[in-house]
Amino acid sequence: MEADAGKKGRFGRFGGQYIPETLMNAVIELDEAYAHYKQDPAFQAELSALFNEYANRPSPLYFAGKMTKDLGGAKIYFKREDLNFTGAHKINNVLGQALLARKMGKTRLIAETGAGQHGVATATAAAYFGMECVIFMGKVDTERQALNVYKMKLLGADVVPVTSGTATLKDAVSEAFREWTNRIADTHYCLGSVMGPHPFPTIVRDFQAVISREARAQILEREGRLPDCVLACVGGGSNAIGSFYHFIEDAKVQLIGCEAAGRGIDTFETAATVSTGRIGVFHGMKSLFCQDEYGQIAPVYSISAGLDYPGIGPEHAYLNEIHRAQYVPVTDEEAVAAFEYTSRMEGIIPAIESSHAIAHAMKIAPKMGKDQILIVTVSGRGDKDCAAVARYRGESIQD
Ligand SMILES: *Cc1c(COP(=O)(O)O)cnc(C)c1O
Repeated sequence: MEADAGKKGRFGRFGGQYIPETLMNAVIELDEAYAHYKQDPAFQAELSALFNEYANRPSPLYFAGKMTKDLGGAKIYFKREDLNFTGAHKINNVLGQALLARKMGKTRLIAETGAGQHGVATATAAAYFGMECVIFMGKVDTERQALNVYKMKLLGADVVPVTSGTATLKDAVSEAFREWTNRIADTHYCLGSVMGPHPFPTIVRDFQAVISREARAQILEREGRLPDCVLACVGGGSNAIGSFYHFIEDAKVQLIGCEAAGRGIDTFETAATVSTGRIGVFHGMKSLFCQDEYGQIAPVYSISAGLDYPGIGPEHAYLNEIHRAQYVPVTDEEAVAAFEYTSRMEGIIPAIESSHAIAHAMKIAPKMGKDQILIVTVSGRGDKDCAAVARYRGESIQD
């Protein structure tokens, strides 16, 4: 089932390494180092200890009993990545990559960020390991996300506003690649999702796979059987592939990725890559991308800053193509309704990104039997989204 890194990170016809020659050495060095440390029990033990003692793992598998009763169908469980230190799944990836970078003798981490969540997580890991840290962020985003810029600086990082292109996330990614090319000797590029050239999609997936490793054991312990369906939201796709990974071989477990449809997939204000995108090459990988009629990367929109990336990780493009996973669009309106409903019903304010997955669970649970089981990954906490949701509802509160 798994088309793994044996063939230079190909997942079927997706993935690969579409990069300039000048970046080849960095990518080869990383690939070799990871192949070594992946097999190293001492590295894995160190990472586990970091996960447990610093990031607050394992995260609970929580039975959403009131929602289950109210919706009247399948049992709904939440995998609580919102309870990780720093409030989302992103810490799993950055701790893994920072530890790997340290082992490789790197002293400096760079990263891209859109909403600032990955930047804050990377700055956190850099502070923990005593590494230098530079975060590239679209200038437009630095203005929209002033609090996260403050946090990154507080954690000791430099934040570089990027003014090229649309001055948003995709331009920050391009700038981070450029910087890495120029400074390979002491610098590791801590990429934020399961995207980019091989080996990043595999490395990030492996660090996020802790989500399904735990969830699989937790549901077996609790229910004595596997779930019928696992749902997660998809931006680049890291929390989703982490949630799916240890269930991929279990053909009876349905896997559903929930994309941000924004104002709808029949509008231009959308970020639903599988629903509206086409195959292309961008940011070092072959995958699906939102494009205009000339093949240029299209501007994307979602109420959720964490989901408005114009592409999707190559392993998802592959799982979609072979019909092992299914990808569905969820609108702003549906996500906001799920955000409000989950807060009221369970006392849990989910990230607006995660609310996309909860929204789809709310659609399918009532049509399923009471003996069936859904696991929804709550990728992060929603405190950061309260002002935006209030604004969406026409209310103005202080950010
Ligand atoms: C960044 C983010 C996402 C989207 O990233 P993926 O790589 O698709 O997981 C989803 N949820 C939260 C809470 C995030 O911060």
